[in-house]
Amino acid sequence: MTGFLVFLLGLAIGSFLNVVVYRLPRSLSLSHPRSACPHCHAPIAAYDNIPVLSYLLLKGKCRHCRAAIPWQYPVVELITAVLFFIVYYDKGLTVRLPLYLLFLAFMISIALIDIKTGLILDRQLMLMLGLGVVLNLLFPFIGWKEALTGMLAGAGSMYLIAFLGRMMLKKESLGFGDVKFAAVAGFYLGVLPTLAAAYIGFVLAFVAILVSKALHKSLPRHIPLGPFLAGGFFLFLLWGHEIGALYLSLVQPR
Ligand SMILES: [Zn+2]
Repeated sequence: MTGFLVFLLGLAIGSFLNVVVYRLPRSLSLSHPRSACPHCHAPIAAYDNIPVLSYLLLKGKCRHCRAAIPWQYPVVELITAVLFFIVYYDKGLTVRLPLYLLFLAFMISIALIDIKTGLILDRQLMLMLGLGVVLNLLFPFIGWKEALTGMLAGAGSMYLIAFLGRMMLKKESLGFGDVKFAAVAGFYLGVLPTLAAAYIGFVLAFVAILVSKALHKSLPRHIPLGPFLAGGFFLFLLWGHEIGALYLSLVQPR
């Protein structure tokens, strides 16, 4: 039953993240005005704004002008709900569950905005850092020293990679947004998980580049790193210990 409620919460948060991803890069308010069809500007009634269900009932079209509703909307809602459920299923109803779900919501929205705009927004990173500090004051989840060195590790490793990339490729390989993103994630994760997550993020991005090269024969001009970093940070915040233990069991001689 609780799992079902967490799933519903995930649908609702996913719906909110759709609003964030649409409005934040355009510097629009998140709460005002109410949701409207971007095509005919008719306000969307509450009964047409139910995650996933409304999309299915309306067959993916605006009730008023029949313009197509982007399929990304229900997909983001579903993915958020499924990930929320997985986190709850694995971690249970612990005091840390809100922290995990909050972190996850940030990772999803940062990844989506980076995919859409190629940017990681300072406003979002500042909010994520501010909430991390407040949460850690109220319900400590990481030592302050570890959090601060984690920030340095995140920023430092990204900065080093940006520097090396510029030397080797003779062009900007990653943006300063990635550096700041890794610093803020480092606050939540601490030193070693941040470095490991950044490494995993780069490996995933590299694989994605190879796959897209094999499929399209040419590279898209810009591959956003944010989604891969977000995936790595999420995995390591939740399952850093398990991944570390698995790695050690693989490299240790029998
Ligand atoms: Zn419309």
